[in-house]
Amino acid sequence: MTDNPGCLGFLARIFGERPKETGALPYRLRDDFLSAAELSFYRVLATAVAGRAVVLTKVRLADLFFVPRSEGSAGFRNRIAQKHVDFLLCDRETMRPLVGVELDDRSHERSSRQERDGFVDEVFWVAGLPLMHLPVRSGYSLAELALALAPYLGGDEGAQPEPIRGAPEPSRPEPGAAGAVPLCPKCGVPMVVRTTGRGERRGERFYGCPNYPKCRETLPYESPPA
Ligand SMILES: [Zn+2]
Repeated sequence: MTDNPGCLGFLARIFGERPKETGALPYRLRDDFLSAAELSFYRVLATAVAGRAVVLTKVRLADLFFVPRSEGSAGFRNRIAQKHVDFLLCDRETMRPLVGVELDDRSHERSSRQERDGFVDEVFWVAGLPLMHLPVRSGYSLAELALALAPYLGGDEGAQPEPIRGAPEPSRPEPGAAGAVPLCPKCGVPMVVRTTGRGERRGERFYGCPNYPKCRETLPYESPPA
């Protein structure tokens, strides 16, 4: 943006002034953003979390997960590019993803759909994010749903979430020889030395992940022995 339209420009956009740069683009607003089944479930879900989490709908897996760059990683990225999770609960302060929720209707019985579901389950599993599947019903028990979600919402009454079915321990970097570059605990790729740019620790070195900002893992930097 080179020119700042200021307050009035902002208002004009809200009130729908036609932007000048567009020609006749073929986009139309969909009337079925949420299906009737999704909407009815959304209402129960929003009530069940009772303000303890934010409920997002139709979140693209590629906005939720990333593939560390390596040979062949483009193929894995493509496999999640067009996929969504029906609902995602996030921490209401930090928006950290807490748990995915899939609403399984009849279409989930089709074999192509089952294949897709199996793949998505695996993606969540390896990335360490819980995913719940709930069957579409005409009505939902608010109490049951609240109870099922409680472990993932944190707070006082929530027990610790069950560890997900034997999820793999992230590959921890080998202690290695002094001065060896450690591997990112999340991505398994060699970390890079970075320098803190601001704040009290300004100028201090640390190891950061080359996949930053998608991966924010850091490790203390120990200068090689002289
Ligand atoms: Zn990383």
